[in-house]
Amino acid sequence: MLIVKKFGGTSVANKERIFNVAKRCIEEYQKGNDVVVVLSAMGKYTDELITMAKDINENPPKREMDMLFTIGEQMSVALMGMAMNKLGVPAVSLNAFQVAMHTTSVYGNARLKRIDTERIKNELEQRKIVIVTGFQGVNKYDDYTTLGRGGSDTTAVALAAALHADACEIYTDVDGVYTADPRKVKNARKLDQVTYDEMLELATLGAGVLHNRSVELAKKYGVTLVVRSSLNNEEGTKVRRGSKMEKMLVSGVAGDADTARIAIMGLKDEPGVAFKLFNALAKHDINVDMILQSIGRKGKKDISFTVSEENADEAAKVIEEQFDDYEGVDVNKNVAKVSIVGAGMQTNAGVAAKMFEALYDENINIRMISTSEIRVTVLIDQENTERAMNAVHDKFSLGD
Ligand code: ADP
Ligand code: ASP
Ligand code: MG
Repeated sequence: MLIVKKFGGTSVANKERIFNVAKRCIEEYQKGNDVVVVLSAMGKYTDELITMAKDINENPPKREMDMLFTIGEQMSVALMGMAMNKLGVPAVSLNAFQVAMHTTSVYGNARLKRIDTERIKNELEQRKIVIVTGFQGVNKYDDYTTLGRGGSDTTAVALAAALHADACEIYTDVDGVYTADPRKVKNARKLDQVTYDEMLELATLGAGVLHNRSVELAKKYGVTLVVRSSLNNEEGTKVRRGSKMEKMLVSGVAGDADTARIAIMGLKDEPGVAFKLFNALAKHDINVDMILQSIGRKGKKDISFTVSEENADEAAKVIEEQFDDYEGVDVNKNVAKVSIVGAGMQTNAGVAAKMFEALYDENINIRMISTSEIRVTVLIDQENTERAMNAVHDKFSLGD
């Protein structure tokens, strides 16, 4: 069997944990399996690198950031190689250049395009454990890129797909995927399994346990993922194609404070306004999430939408450049999204109402609402996020 195992930052945060991971991988290797290990930077090292960078330049060039980021993952893989060597097992560490992980050119948010598998296969044939840097890639200019925060999960899934691995295991600091972030919702319960579509929504809506693009790739290439703890032997959660019988009404709650609401008041109520606005934002690579347009009155209308917090000021600037005839723009960064996700929702009425009731019981005001077939999202004041998540979670009895 060929197994890809990914370990996140907390799982390799110190010497003891590095040896713990090394031993887990060696156990698998000694059963006769081929083992490819993907690692993140140790502990909170990526955050520390950002702090260091901002101390030098509060607005560092994205290319230089990626140059800096790559040392975090490179440190982890080299130390892991040394640990395995110390334990008497042949291992080799490789960075994105050495594997050749080809990505698009966008620094800080690149997408994997192609992975050369020859080098890895050669090393495996020589019965080595191969340890690969997560999160990083190389673009057509031979520059380092990174895949976005949390991107090591995506590296692991992409490698599993490219190598036709028999298993892809994501080891982290919780026992699996829960009905909500167990650090925020006290009654959260571990799920035995979750479908790709549900997991994709949850990850996109703030459940940081998996990078959302890793789930997208897993779905596309049919890679079954297992999320489990690096610190114990609990079974973990399987992320895979859904079967009809198991469709849960609601399988999870997610919260995301990294969002800002922009409202433009008093735009002209005429054709083409929304096009002009969102086209301009798209040209600036600003992703828009929820959108709300008011009913026109006296030839005027309001449009509000949400963007990620880091894009909020730029979005406001784009509006000022594009329009001269409006009454005002309001930027509110103290908002958060709370969402429920469940594949069974599409065939059951009243799910949204039940969510709104939970918020009403807590006297939490809803500022915006958006829905899809398998999700309902509300925008609320950020200070209420955890209270809302707990209330909604318990309303649907997800902990039972
Ligand atoms: P790693 O460094 O291993 O990649 P992350 O910090 O990226 O770990 O992801 C694990 C964290 O995700 C957990 O510690 C937990 O707080 C958070 N999390 C958010 N939502 C969920 C969820 N639904 N289930 C499990 N963990 C979640
Ligand atoms: N080290 C990177 C980060 O902190 C990638 C990852 O952990 O997946 O975002
Ligand atoms: Mg992660």
